[in-house]
Amino acid sequence: TDFDVIKLLTELREILQQTGPSHQLLLNLPAGELIIHADSQRIEQVVINLVTNAVKYSPKADKVIIEALVINNKFKVSVQDFGIGIQPDQLDRVFSRFYRVENLASHMSGLGIGLYICQEIVNRHQGRLWVESTYGEGSTFHFEIPINTN
Ligand code: ATP
Ligand code: MG
Repeated sequence: TDFDVIKLLTELREILQQTGPSHQLLLNLPAGELIIHADSQRIEQVVINLVTNAVKYSPKADKVIIEALVINNKFKVSVQDFGIGIQPDQLDRVFSRFYRVENLASHMSGLGIGLYICQEIVNRHQGRLWVESTYGEGSTFHFEIPINTN
């Protein structure tokens, strides 16, 4: 169904803040409304998963930046953290089902399924999900979906 994705993110703010009360969540959204044809609950789930990870894997940071924008008729969301980061050889693997990077954060709870679910959802919307990261400095997860997707 059609929904306003800017409104969704605005309304999500409180829930997101609860997932990471230790961090300041900086929301950078375009003004106005943006109607997209997608499954709003699933899109919400993707954002919550990414923000939960951003908070969980940046135990020493105090902020997470969530940005949304429209580019090439696509809706793009980026979630940036300043945490442990991901080594280059692990970048692709984090989207695999049940995969978890072995590192200092391995003791943190999790099943390794959040990103796999995010990717499934984004793929089903003809979109894509990817990550950029500098080990030890932080990570940015991006996803984009076509605005007039069916
Ligand atoms: P859960 O199933 O509860 O989400 P999880 O967070 O371990 O568990 P994913 O969200 O799928 O699983 O993430 C997979 C792995 O990717 C994580 O275990 C972690 O090693 C790495 N990872 C994910 N997000 C980040 C991030 N923002 N910074 C650094 N590493 C990350
Ligand atoms: Mg996770």
